[in-house]
Amino acid sequence: MIKVDEKGFYGKFGGAYIPEMLYPNIEELKENYEQLMASEEFQKEFRSLLKDYVGRPTPLYFATRLSEKYGAKIYLKREDLCHTGAHKVNNTVGQIILAKKLGKKRIIAETGAGQHGVATATVCALMGMECTVFMGALDIQRQRPNVERMKILGAKVVPATSGSQTLKDATNEAMRQWINNPVDTHYIIGSVVGPHPYPEMVARFQSVISEEIKWQLKEKEKTENPDIVIACVGGGSNAAGAFYHYYNIPQVRLVAAEAAGLGVSSGKSAATTALGTPGILHGSKTLLMQTEDGQVVEPHSISAGLDYPGIGPVHAHLFDTGRAEFVAVEDEDAMKAGIELSRLEGIIPAIETAHALHSLQMIEYKKEDIIVINLSGRGDKDLDTYIKWGGY
Ligand SMILES: *Cc1c(COP(=O)(O)O)cnc(C)c1O
Repeated sequence: MIKVDEKGFYGKFGGAYIPEMLYPNIEELKENYEQLMASEEFQKEFRSLLKDYVGRPTPLYFATRLSEKYGAKIYLKREDLCHTGAHKVNNTVGQIILAKKLGKKRIIAETGAGQHGVATATVCALMGMECTVFMGALDIQRQRPNVERMKILGAKVVPATSGSQTLKDATNEAMRQWINNPVDTHYIIGSVVGPHPYPEMVARFQSVISEEIKWQLKEKEKTENPDIVIACVGGGSNAAGAFYHYYNIPQVRLVAAEAAGLGVSSGKSAATTALGTPGILHGSKTLLMQTEDGQVVEPHSISAGLDYPGIGPVHAHLFDTGRAEFVAVEDEDAMKAGIELSRLEGIIPAIETAHALHSLQMIEYKKEDIIVINLSGRGDKDLDTYIKWGGY
């Protein structure tokens, strides 16, 4: 378990740096969520939806041909088989139940590429809640299919037209809406980012991933502990979930794969731990890519889900303490790793996930090592990117 302190800090990182106006919202959430999540009623509903709606437990699959190729025992944790095609729904299911128990009627969310927007619109339809998703006007143009998905699911998609018209502007817009509607609205954040208690809350919802890996590996290998767990990091929610129950077991190595874009020093990258410095992003203290005078640097990655200028505070802490190893994977290498998995195992991964796969070529391990790679999502949403890249 990864422990957060009273004020929401993981070592030097975390906390709640928010405008005064947002205090009532955050306080209400903080005061209620622990108790609610611990209640038997909440757990029963959450577990039941994870099983029958999301389709959990997801398989832990021994990848025979990938293992042969790399000379280790490689398992894939199949989050790509979750309803909607990625791990994100584990969190939105948890938060929508929480919102209902808090008596909220409306849900707001921000989205970049639209994946979190779709996962949020999905659970709002499930619960019959009104859903508004804020999305940069530029992203709306770039991510047409996800915009239409959200609309089919009954959500309202509101363009954010300020600034660069991308994720950070959508986030600002969602915050503003929340300040104006503190009583009836819950804001669903999509990763282990934002002010406390969000990072902790999202990590706990995603921790079902490593909870399952433990018993699944026990069945297959007679041990709960792999030698290495690998996951990609955008904000860091799938990684936090895959690492969660291994954090306190030092012999389990944790490997986090970030996006190096066109190269760490190319000026077009999202390799936050390599390039970032401490600062405040989206309400928490963390590592982020910024100029000397504190302007957030526009990130780049071929995968929309890793195209984020920061990381969650828990990962800043894992980096700072050396508990996790961080690698930065370039666009081209990730694409090749995606094709390789498709050819070796018949699984087309999300391009985010392909970054985690390539890190097999960047770390050291032994032939007898058991390696679990968190397969965060499927590649259907990325078909256009695969086609444009074309190298297959
Ligand atoms: C959104 C997304 C990610 C990145 O988000 P995290 O919070 O870092 O997990 C990774 N993989 C897939 C498939 C995604 O959709």
